[in-house]
Amino acid sequence: MNEDTHVFYRNPFTTYPVIARGEGAYLFDTKGKRYLDACGGAVVSALGHNVPEVVEALKAQLDSVEFAHTSQFTNPPQEQLAELLAELSPGGLNHAYFVSGGSEAVESAIKMARAYWVQMGRPEKWMVIGREQSYHGNTLGALAAGGNRWRRALYEPMLYQRPRVSPCYCYRCPFDKDPAHCALECADDLERAILEVGPEKVSAFIAEPIVGATAGALVPHENYFRRIREICDRYDVLLIADEVMTGLGRCGTWFAIKQFGVVPDMICMAKGLAAGYVPIGATLVHNHIVDTFHNRRNVFQHGHTYMGHPLAAAAGVAVIKYMQQHKLVERSKKMGEELITRLREALHDHPHVGDIRGRGLFCGIEFVLDRATKHPFEPELAFHRILGETAFANGLIIYPMGGTLDGRRGDHVLIAPPFIITKAQIGRLVELLVKSIDATVAKLRERIAA
Ligand code: PMP
Repeated sequence: MNEDTHVFYRNPFTTYPVIARGEGAYLFDTKGKRYLDACGGAVVSALGHNVPEVVEALKAQLDSVEFAHTSQFTNPPQEQLAELLAELSPGGLNHAYFVSGGSEAVESAIKMARAYWVQMGRPEKWMVIGREQSYHGNTLGALAAGGNRWRRALYEPMLYQRPRVSPCYCYRCPFDKDPAHCALECADDLERAILEVGPEKVSAFIAEPIVGATAGALVPHENYFRRIREICDRYDVLLIADEVMTGLGRCGTWFAIKQFGVVPDMICMAKGLAAGYVPIGATLVHNHIVDTFHNRRNVFQHGHTYMGHPLAAAAGVAVIKYMQQHKLVERSKKMGEELITRLREALHDHPHVGDIRGRGLFCGIEFVLDRATKHPFEPELAFHRILGETAFANGLIIYPMGGTLDGRRGDHVLIAPPFIITKAQIGRLVELLVKSIDATVAKLRERIAA
């Protein structure tokens, strides 16, 4: 299907199977091949495929109205979704700004932070700082805030420049510390960066509570975010939690940031919010920010055509209700423990598995050439890509990524199956994964040895 295609984003050197249908944890192509979807595409499909309750909710919404612009009407599903999110989010984040995806949610947060400080009479505060090895989206503002060097490289001249901030990466501590005894030097690195550009210029700090695509489910030091919150408060810097991947139950709590004992000023979310049934994103905003706009009789000057789309919001409501009814957040936690235990049992002494990490059904495996030295594979081997392709051929879909370390070196995969996954399916997932890792090592054996 890739010859003579008019779709531009496809890789012309790859032949893609054609998707026919989905059911629960499985996808089927038009040739009848079945795939265990162990990453929900890009950590999107939280409920599994083709859940009748969500499909029915979408049909019902289409039967009433498909679209009405938010500058002219509100609509019941967006009101209901905002109310549900206010109930589920950490204290005070009671307002939702609905958009169509993760990058838009981050872009909105970046601009909202700037607009907030203008309201506060400090218009010089505009810069959002993010960390190394982070990804917050592909639009220019979100890309500038992120630290993924590979994604940034081509567009570097178009991105605002900001200081580099260390990630919290205990497996390879950038400060060579043992996490059991460290002084949270990685968190203090934010203070250094704020002072470097001047606190008067910094509007916000953005971070994923558990880093996804660029680092493979990297869980921070337990006290990291508390220190970050203190630093943000000290310098009047807003804290934005990017929960585009982790949001809505993925890590075993509705929001991952709840596990680290702080309340951010904004939360960006997208993927899990409508679980892939339709595109949606949201920026959850703390009362104190909204009050600042309202008290000055101002509105946030921003907007997108499809914000608050009734169909997207109806899917969000149906997804949350389904998760509540079937206790899927609790299930994500329980099945996540099962998954990580099984992965560790199967791979703890594998010569090329460096680290297995994660929370809930959000697990990452980092691969290394040598376990003792943690030396990564050479980027030319494309270990992660070959592993992803091998697993795919074996009927297992995982999310492989390279450039974990610096945009070139480092390989990991994300494993993020739907919350409805069963123990038996987890067993099969681990079996197929081990088989795929071994086949990848065998394929690359000579090149690894060289
Ligand atoms: N933030 C994070 C943490 C993400 O993982 C992603 C997508 N992978 C984005 C933002 C961007 O989301 P989208 O692709 O929906 O624009």
